[in-house]
Amino acid sequence: GGTLYLVSTPIGNLEDLTFRALRVLKEVDLVAAEDTRHSRKLFNHYGITTSLTSYFEHNEGEKGARLIEALQQGKSVALISDAGTPAISDPGYLLVSRCRDLGIEVCAVPGPSATVAALSISGLPVERFAFEGFLPPRSAARRAAFALLRSERRTTLYYEGPHRLLAALKDLQLEVGETRLIAVARELTKMHEELFRGTVAEALDHFGRERVRGEIVLLVGPAPEEKPAGTVREALLKRRQEC
Ligand code: SAM
Repeated sequence: GGTLYLVSTPIGNLEDLTFRALRVLKEVDLVAAEDTRHSRKLFNHYGITTSLTSYFEHNEGEKGARLIEALQQGKSVALISDAGTPAISDPGYLLVSRCRDLGIEVCAVPGPSATVAALSISGLPVERFAFEGFLPPRSAARRAAFALLRSERRTTLYYEGPHRLLAALKDLQLEVGETRLIAVARELTKMHEELFRGTVAEALDHFGRERVRGEIVLLVGPAPEEKPAGTVREALLKRRQEC
């Protein structure tokens, strides 16, 4: 049978396509793209002439079946999304999971992903992190998500649209307070790239000044380590000893 390649493509800067990604995109029989019109730009830039077919959220089932047929007939297929790594907050999981069930070879051609790029330059602890995908659009659900961060010891990452950033920061302030260290990565690899790092209060001040534009990753730093809480009596005894 053929191989399914999950090919990462640039998240803004067209130069961020790997040599291997370029070769695979040129050599496969078929490229399945989230938005063929969007991917055509990348293809034109690099002179890739492989046939493009669409594979997006709402045709995943039907289209997936046809791609699997092609793979079983020995064709090689590359899956790409509009930006970054396919299947990461993008279509792909369903197809990969079916291929694995059927014993079809699946191969990564790794490259850009907004998550890892943002984390690496955030200046927040990177040893342990949690990726939560897109933040819920409604405040109640968003606050419930942020409430979980009160004692979270990992850096937590979210994808968010620019028009909701301020509302999200306000909810974050309500749930974890204004002193938590966070980062906002905006327009990574593009002309107006920005990495903001500071407290929630500083972020509210910074992003409250003018309309926020561009693509955004929100990173919330870990909760400060909790001091083991002794009893009031222990604290009083200790104070008496100190006096
Ligand atoms: N599969 C992609 C990846 O690997 O990064 C993510 C796809 S998701 C549909 C798109 C979201 O990723 C955007 O809404 C934004 O939150 C984030 N994103 C994509 N490109 C970005 C960039 N250049 N700078 C900051 N965030 C970006």
